[in-house]
Amino acid sequence: MSASREINLMGLERNALRALLADMGEKPFRGDQLMQWIHQHGVLDFEKMTNLGKTLRSQLSESCTVKSLELIKESISVDGTRKWLFRLDDGNAIETVFIPEEDRGTLCVSSQAGCALNCTFCSTAQQGFNRNLTSAEIIGQLWAASQLLHSGVVPGSNRVITNVVLMGMGEPLLNFDNVVSAMQIMLDDFAYGLSKRRVTLSTSGVIPALDKLFDVCPVSLAVSLHAPNDELRNILVPVNKKYPIRELIAACKRYIGDDAGRRRVTIEYVMLDGVNDSDGQAKELLKCLQGLPAKINLIPFNPFPGSQYRRSPQNRIDAFREILMQAGIMTVTRRPRGDDIDAACGQLAGRITDRTRRTSRMELQENVGTVK
Ligand code: SAH
Repeated sequence: MSASREINLMGLERNALRALLADMGEKPFRGDQLMQWIHQHGVLDFEKMTNLGKTLRSQLSESCTVKSLELIKESISVDGTRKWLFRLDDGNAIETVFIPEEDRGTLCVSSQAGCALNCTFCSTAQQGFNRNLTSAEIIGQLWAASQLLHSGVVPGSNRVITNVVLMGMGEPLLNFDNVVSAMQIMLDDFAYGLSKRRVTLSTSGVIPALDKLFDVCPVSLAVSLHAPNDELRNILVPVNKKYPIRELIAACKRYIGDDAGRRRVTIEYVMLDGVNDSDGQAKELLKCLQGLPAKINLIPFNPFPGSQYRRSPQNRIDAFREILMQAGIMTVTRRPRGDDIDAACGQLAGRITDRTRRTSRMELQENVGTVK
């Protein structure tokens, strides 16, 4: 069939849908209706979109598709966390996690197949990097999860997914345009209608992209700091060599701007036994964060096959937290969720074909197996 048939409407923002329909000689508001069918009613078959005229429906069927992701595997944790492995068209597979809590349901979404950043404590890094996900593949995770959980999208309906965090596989700011498009669909009232507060992007700190994000889509921000000085952070989060701590914190301050009364940056800090968890390091961390409206999430390290670190003992995490709290910074220790199904922070590996890395990485990947 013709190449135009390959337009996948799943990943198109509303403006793009409106423009597409205007090109077809339709009124732009038909684009709004199309978006509602896809994202609010979960309908992918044009023939079932009954408020669109017959001619338009067949025109759409001829030139477009709406494609979701193919589910390969679902794992359910004893704590209710669910992890899904989705197959992409090119054979790579990515992971998405749903974390139910009493007052909310959070979907953790991947932005890349693998990751290029090489953080030494993260399982995704071990897998290497294959490619950026398309906007359709990113929003497709929310679409598919909504279906799998029978989650409505309209507030007040049977909404199960109330929050989305870009904390799955990949560095979202290195896939900027596609991530922003997907987030615009999350926020759109004709799609998922999530507020900016309920969508959180987590980054290891790609500063130029962070500044750009503020301009185009200022969602909630989480920053993976993990170390209180450049010497250590250069090892744990190597992108620090390019974007060091002081500049990163300055960028965070710009991101919050004069909205400090309402907004805070979440600082993520993985607790690694004997590496970054001493009292002295807690105090150093406080110095780094001076003047930044922040809250801190301490993440007990989650091990994975071949990992070289250990989780800090609970009393160490408590003592570290106490120092931060005493200084007046809201600090929460993240409860590991879904670690029995390898769904916790840093355990997502998917099944990707590494296009960048050396053999040791390939061996690890063979153990996991690849999707044919
Ligand atoms: N690339 C983005 C988002 C993905 S990681 C980022 O760096 O923020 C989501 C969070 O999990 C990050 O804070 C990451 O540093 C943390 N993480 C990675 N591996 C982990 C592990 N093994 N245990 C605990 N947290 C981990």
